[in-house]
Amino acid sequence: MFGKNNKTPLPAKKKEDIPYIKEGISFKDWKAKNGSGHKWRTIRWSVLIGINLLFILSFMFDLSLLEGSLSGSRLFGFYLMDPFNSLQMLIISAYTGHIKFLTMNFVIGFLTIFIFYFLMGGRTFCSWICPYHFLAEWGEKLHNYLVKKKKIKEHTYNIYLRYVFWVGFLILAFVTQQLVFEDVNPIGILSRAMIYGPGLILLWILALITFEIVYSKRFWCRYVCPVGATWSMVGKATPFGVKFELDKCAHCLDCQKVCLVPHELWFVEKGKATDKRHDVGSDCTRCGLCIDACPGNALSYTIKGWDRIL
Ligand code: SF4
Ligand code: SF4
Repeated sequence: MFGKNNKTPLPAKKKEDIPYIKEGISFKDWKAKNGSGHKWRTIRWSVLIGINLLFILSFMFDLSLLEGSLSGSRLFGFYLMDPFNSLQMLIISAYTGHIKFLTMNFVIGFLTIFIFYFLMGGRTFCSWICPYHFLAEWGEKLHNYLVKKKKIKEHTYNIYLRYVFWVGFLILAFVTQQLVFEDVNPIGILSRAMIYGPGLILLWILALITFEIVYSKRFWCRYVCPVGATWSMVGKATPFGVKFELDKCAHCLDCQKVCLVPHELWFVEKGKATDKRHDVGSDCTRCGLCIDACPGNALSYTIKGWDRIL
């Protein structure tokens, strides 16, 4: 599966090595003792709301703080460009012969964002900045409730579907010489609606979130979004991520239950880990939900090569 390696798994942990059994208490007591709060979710939501609020306030009060929207913006007058948007523009201008007219601002904007999210972990953008991710997290709660009540069934697809959409939207940009993806991109649509005011296009967001609630959990983020797919590619080489320590794990799978991309936590399943320590793969959005959920503190943020930093 995506994110797995081909090494031989370590022998499954013996019963006496399971952390709560080692401590001589029940799983329930172990969980209650170690607690599982919402520390990282609270920090992350504060950052996400704060950044999006900054866009709104900058527009409302004509401040030169964070101007534009999440498709393209200026921070203190310094240009920032979404990488997938940049890629589409590059393809269109290469085709039309206008590539030499792309300005230095475009290059600086693209490189600034690219380097920033490279250092911050790639898909960090998804869970820490994207307003659609925020909305979809609430949709997911409702979806999980309906599944639990047996009102609906879960529908999952191949995670590689995103790359089909990624290539498809680039081909569409090439063929039409238009930023077609921007017409359906919920990130830009929501960002612009919050800054400049709502429009009928929000019906598309409503349709999307309804589909996710009643049919397939987090469909857009998991199987479609080319922005997330681009950051996932960047995240393959990024230094910042989430690490897993086998010794602290009880294989309860609480982390997988809250994760947008549970395939990246394949090593938490009993007898699957191939090393005492694993780094979570590039699809991880560094959201911290698994860190909050884990009763054994087996998951934590890390800079590869460094020990636990937070
Ligand atoms: S592995 Fe953890 S940090 Fe990464 S997306 Fe899943 S829940 Fe979030
Ligand atoms: S890493 Fe996951 S499976 Fe292991 S103890 Fe923590 S929540 Fe449970």
